[in-house]
Amino acid sequence: MQKQIKIKGQEINYKIRKSRRAKRLSLAIYANGEVVATKPNNISIRILELFIKQQANWILSKLNFFAGLKSTIPQASKQDYLNKKEQVFNLVNNKIAKLNQVYNFKFNKIGIRNQKTRWGSCSQKGNLNFNYRMIYLSDKIVEYIITHELCHLQEFNHSSRFWNLVAVAVPDYKNIKKELRNKGLNYF
Ligand SMILES: [Zn+2]
Repeated sequence: MQKQIKIKGQEINYKIRKSRRAKRLSLAIYANGEVVATKPNNISIRILELFIKQQANWILSKLNFFAGLKSTIPQASKQDYLNKKEQVFNLVNNKIAKLNQVYNFKFNKIGIRNQKTRWGSCSQKGNLNFNYRMIYLSDKIVEYIITHELCHLQEFNHSSRFWNLVAVAVPDYKNIKKELRNKGLNYF
């Protein structure tokens, strides 16, 4: 059910998910700006609205955060891709030269792609591909993405051996993964 509510003078849309199993009210805000309230059957809409209003600050700051993120990382576009491709290729090459000093892995080709759902990939043939929109991420995150794909050259899985390998070059990888997830950008 789609509803509207005014919080701190701002109209926001939200969805109600009724749940027989839910024991309490909860709110989730997704990276696409969707607000979903889960409501146990025996709780009224009026109580739900009070609950939402109580969390006005949190809701608005999350929505602002996601909106700001959208403006710093543009949607994939062919023209933007063509404009940035070479710059991203140079960035990736420089980073690999640095990060692969630790590993010394052999790889085949490096490609920069315009993808919607992945930051990077590593093929069985040892080709490494990266999403051109990496250029809009912080240096720390870029290094994590590159290390992630480099380590797939040795471990073609996400086993604990794989993550131990990642940790050699990026000891902080767990926090970086969390950061990507919080940004709704955790695609691998
Ligand atoms: Zn992976």
